[in-house]
Amino acid sequence: MNIVVLMKQVPDTYAERKLQAGDNTLDRDASDAVINEIDEYAIEEGLLLKEAHGGEVTILTMGPDRATESIRKALSMGADKGVHVLDDALHGSCAITTAKVLAKALGTVEYDLVIAGSEATDSRLSIVPALVSEALGVAQLSGARKVTVDGSTVTIERTTDTGFDRVEGAVPAVVSVVEKINEPRYPSFKGIMAAKSKPVTTLSLSDLGLSPDEVGLVASTTTVESYEEAPPRAAGTIVKDEGNGGAAIAEYLASRKLI
Ligand SMILES: Cc1cc2nc3c(=O)[nH]c(=O)nc-3n(C[C@H](O)[C@H](O)[C@H](O)COP(=O)(O)OP(=O)(O)OC[C@H]3O[C@@H](n4cnc5c(N)ncnc54)[C@H](O)[C@@H]3O)c2cc1C
Repeated sequence: MNIVVLMKQVPDTYAERKLQAGDNTLDRDASDAVINEIDEYAIEEGLLLKEAHGGEVTILTMGPDRATESIRKALSMGADKGVHVLDDALHGSCAITTAKVLAKALGTVEYDLVIAGSEATDSRLSIVPALVSEALGVAQLSGARKVTVDGSTVTIERTTDTGFDRVEGAVPAVVSVVEKINEPRYPSFKGIMAAKSKPVTTLSLSDLGLSPDEVGLVASTTTVESYEEAPPRAAGTIVKDEGNGGAAIAEYLASRKLI
C-alpha cells in the first residue's frame, strides 16, 4: 500500500512568532523551523501501515527551501522518499491554493492513502485535508485516533465528546489524524544515515502545470490587512494572605469585573 503523508514545516511552537513588515506574512526566518507536531503522528501512522501492509511512504510538502530539512527528518524516521514543492511564487499562499498545489503534486505520485495532520500549529485552519480530498475527488476521513485498512476499505475511529464514531471509506482516501493515534518514533542513527541517500524530488509550479498568477499572495483568498505587536506583559499583582487572602482575591477579581 502506497501512502503519501502531507507534512508542513512550521515555526517552532515554543518560539516567538512574528509577521514581517511589507507583506504582513509570517516571518519564517525569525525562528527555528520544525515538522508540524501533528504531522509527526501522521508520519508515524504511515510507517505503521507500511509495516503492516508493505508499500512505500512518500512525504509531500509545499514550503520554502529549508523545508528540505524536515523532509530529511521524516526520511530518517523511515519514510522512503520525499516530494518538495518549491517555488518563490508560492510565498503567502492561502489554504485553498495550498490544497490545489498539493493535489496537483499528488497527481505525480502513486498512492492508496493520503495521511495528514488535523491542524498546522502556525495558522491552525484545519482545512487543508478536506480541501485536498475535494480537489482529488476522494473521501476524507477526519480526526482519526485509529486507522485500519482492509483491502480497499479504510476505517477510522473519530473521537467525539461521548466516545467515538467509526467511519468507513473506499481507498484512495484522505485521512487526517489527531495526536491520540500513536507515539511518533525518534529517528535512529541508522535511519539518519540512510535518509541522506533517499530520493527527494523537487517540483516547481511549471512542473505542476500551474502559473505564478494562480498562487501566492496575488491569488490569496485571505490577507492580513494590519497588525500590532502585543503589548509587553505588565507586572502581576501579588495578594499576600494575612488571614484575608480569599476576600482580597475576590475583591481584586470584582474590581476587574471578572466576578
Ligand atoms: C490570514 C492568514 C494569513 C496567512 N499568512 C501566511 C503567511 O504569511 N505565510 C504562510 O506561509 N502562510 C500563511 N497563512 C497560512 C496559509 O494559508 C496556510 O499555511 C496554508 O494555507 C495551510 O493552512 P494551515 O497551515 O492552517 O493548515 P491546516 O489545514 O491547519 O493543516 C492541516 C494539515 O494539512 C497539511 N498541510 C497544510 N499545509 C501544508 C503544506 N504547506 N504542505 C504539506 N502539507 C500541508 C498538514 O498535514 C497539516 O497537518 C495565512 C493564513 C491566513 C488565514
